[in-house]
Order: sequence, then structure tokens, then C-alpha cells
Amino acid sequence: MVELKNVSVTYSTGVDALNNVSLKINDGDFAFVVGSSGAGKSTMIKLLLKEIDATSGVVTVNGYNLNKLRKRKIPEFRRTLGFVFQDFRLIPSMTVYENIAFVLRVIDAPIKYIRKRVPYVISLVGLHSKTNSYPDELSGGEKQRVAIARALVNDPKLIIADEPTGNIDPELSYEIVELLKSINDQGTTILMVTHEHDLVRHFGGRIINITGGEIVFDEVMLGAGDDLISDQESIQYGYALEAASPDSEALQAASAIDSPAPQKPENSADALVDAILKDGEEQELLGAGETPDIPIDQMTPDEVIAAISGEKTSGGAE
Ligand code: ADP
Repeated sequence: MVELKNVSVTYSTGVDALNNVSLKINDGDFAFVVGSSGAGKSTMIKLLLKEIDATSGVVTVNGYNLNKLRKRKIPEFRRTLGFVFQDFRLIPSMTVYENIAFVLRVIDAPIKYIRKRVPYVISLVGLHSKTNSYPDELSGGEKQRVAIARALVNDPKLIIADEPTGNIDPELSYEIVELLKSINDQGTTILMVTHEHDLVRHFGGRIINITGGEIVFDEVMLGAGDDLISDQESIQYGYALEAASPDSEALQAASAIDSPAPQKPENSADALVDAILKDGEEQELLGAGETPDIPIDQMTPDEVIAAISGEKTSGGAE
């Protein structure tokens, strides 16, 4: 569950990026967040990831009151979330399997669990045949599917997708949203930021429009091609969008697999990270547009997760 109560964010420059925003997203919801550039969407996402703090108001995510969350608890909190970014952030020297398994290894999940869980999420996103491929052997749509599988692997309550279709061919964008919808059908809450109005029109659902740091629109709409029909009653009647995912069979088959909760492994997370990194060579995060300050093989597990999630240590609101 995500709740913002009278939240404002004023940056140190004096810019009011969010102005008294109140918003509630219940468990199991799918919501699009739309708004033009500079509207405050990224600021909202940074708040939800606790990259920045609200200047005033209360932010609650997955039961954590972010105003009161201590720094050392931030990694634990972030593990209740999955992130999907426009630029994929896959590690180029790792296969699809390794890119996903990596997330479980850094949180000390047992090997047996990893061996079961990783193929399961790969089948969820329809990439079984690409299990041993490297990111540069995949299309943009396939890369984003890997990123979605990686976001899912830790069974998060909430997935935040920030412009996930921004680097993908328009026709494949629909598949990505369908995939997110089918994941939502299995109970994961999804918040997707997008500026692609065609997609939002096509799918409908809950649409939150931020303009000038304020929520100017928050309604459930029927997705009907180019015709939007306001349908307030749809919430009441449990309206659900049809996510005719090509992978829905795989989804059903895969959901039959019993996935036990991770237990304490025999190996340390550091040893596992070392094992999957090749000879300590310096690695870059593909598409992230920037190299981490420290070579990835010298990072602690929490630093790796922070790098993947796009955490910045500097900047933010006051
Ligand atoms: P969006 O993601 O919708 O494009 P942002 O949340 O990035 O919007 O920006 C909202 C407003 O806050 C804009 O006026 C932007 O210039 C300003 N802003 C964003 N980040 C910072 C920052 N780190 N410091 C100062 N102003 C910022």
C-alpha cells in the first residue's frame, strides 16, 4: 500500500515540486501516473523509494512510514519493492539467468530456492529460450522483460515502473504493459509512470495525472481504443482490465510451483557475488548511462542493490 498524506516537496533551490499531494494506492491496484515534463512524477518516485524526504506530510509505503525510517533500515524497506527503469539496468557480462539470480544471491537466498525461483520468473516473462543469452543479444522489449523478471524475483508487494516503455518500439510497448497487467492479476501492486498517452488510453484503469506538483485527475477509466469512458462505478464492480498476455499459460503453469521463502544460506552474500562476477573485472551497468563510482565487484550487496535500483547518494529535497 502506498499513501501520501498532504505531501509537499520543496527543493533547496526553492522549487515546489509537489504541493500538498494526497494519494492512496491499495494493495493489488494498477495505476498509471501521467503528467508532462517537470510535473513532479520523478519527485514522487524518489519519495516512494526514499531517495528524498518530504518537506512536509507523511509518506507510507508497504507499511513503512518513510518519514521515520532509519537509514540502516532503507535496504530492508527497498527489498519490499521491485523497480523497472526505462534504461533496463542489466549487467552486460551476465546472462539473463545470472542477471536475475544475482538479486537473490545478494540477499543470501538459498541456492535451492534460487534454482527454482529464477526459471519460474523467466517463464513468467516468456523468456525461457533466452535464459543463457546476454543482454546485448536481446531486443529492447526482451531486455525490459528481463528487468521485470528481476523486479519480480524477490516477490515484491509493489513494483514501480518508471517509463518502462520509453526505450522500446511502440508495438512492443503494449506487450510490456500487458505483462505488467498479468503480474498485477497475480496480486502485485503496480505503479507505472508514463508519458505515452496512447498506451494509457488503450489499457485504461486508474489514471493519476500530476500537473504542476498537484494531482489534477485521479480516476478509473475504461480502456477502449481511442475512446475514454469515465467509469467511476467500475471500482465498485471490481472492474479489471483484460491482460491477454501471450504468457498467461506460462503464468498459470508457473504459479503452480511451490516457492518457499528464502532461508539462511551456507554461503555469505559476498562469496556469492564474487562467484558470479568474472575474475573481478570492472563492470558497468548496461544502459545506465553512468559507471558506478566503485567497480561492481568491490561493492557490498547493499551497494549493488542500490546501483541497480538507481539510488543516488547525493541530491534531494530539504
Ligand atoms: P517530472 O518527473 O514530472 O518531469 P520532476 O519531479 O523531475 O518532474 O520535477 C518537478 C520540478 O522539480 C521541476 O520544476 C524540476 O525542475 C524540479 N526539480 C527536480 N529535481 C530537482 C532537484 N534535484 N533540485 C531542484 N529542482 C528539482
